[in-house]
Amino acid sequence: MTIIPLPAFRDNYIWLLRAGTCAVVVDPGEAAPVLRYLADEGLTLAAILITHHHPDHVGGVAELLAQAPVPVHGPALEAIAGIDHPVGEGDVVCLPGLGVELRVFDIPGHTAGHVGYYGDSALFCGDTLFAAGCGRLFEGTPAQMFDSLQKLAALPGDTRVYCTHEYTLSNLAFAAAVEPANGAISERIAASEAMRAANQPTVPFPLSGEMLTNPFLRVHEPAVIYQAETQAGRGLASPVEVFAALREWKNRF
Ligand code: ZN
Ligand code: FE
Repeated sequence: MTIIPLPAFRDNYIWLLRAGTCAVVVDPGEAAPVLRYLADEGLTLAAILITHHHPDHVGGVAELLAQAPVPVHGPALEAIAGIDHPVGEGDVVCLPGLGVELRVFDIPGHTAGHVGYYGDSALFCGDTLFAAGCGRLFEGTPAQMFDSLQKLAALPGDTRVYCTHEYTLSNLAFAAAVEPANGAISERIAASEAMRAANQPTVPFPLSGEMLTNPFLRVHEPAVIYQAETQAGRGLASPVEVFAALREWKNRF
């Protein structure tokens, strides 16, 4: 199985999984780039996976279904037109054409019913975990997002993370503000700048690197706690409070 990024809108990636002549797309916010790629490569769409209900993730579903009626897997807890295979925590999505099975995680926070898919060392996590960052809390609480990120962080370090936005450089600028002395962050900035200069996506990325550079996964670090408390102007009693203060700060960064 190969996984291809199809750029969409300003900074979205629609992920296309392919093997033989079979293709599956994750979060098709628009149909045009998917239909073009399928036609160019002679592929047949076999299924659609959805992580959450935002238009930049589901906007292309109706048009894709009009071309070919395929199973649509998506969060059971969100009302999304076209989903005929609602999924939630612990479910397994079989993609026979690709020879892969994906485990479903409930990862609420960005939205209330957000799910992620994990299999074959690949994680499709929508707008929950980003490179060096995390999604905004539109519907969930800081505690929910914190738990969701911890759940993802517990996956094997060699997991490759396929998030849906190219936010890496702006996230790293924030990470550097949180931890100015963290050398892993400055190294990642240099590497990511080189990739963007060469027009390459910075996604996917290995989960192991997040532990070293993502402030939202580093809420136990004294340096991170110190900066979060300084920004909040008060002591923070728990990792969730540190997380919430970081997320607040990032919103106005
Ligand atoms: Zn979203
Ligand atoms: Fe999005």
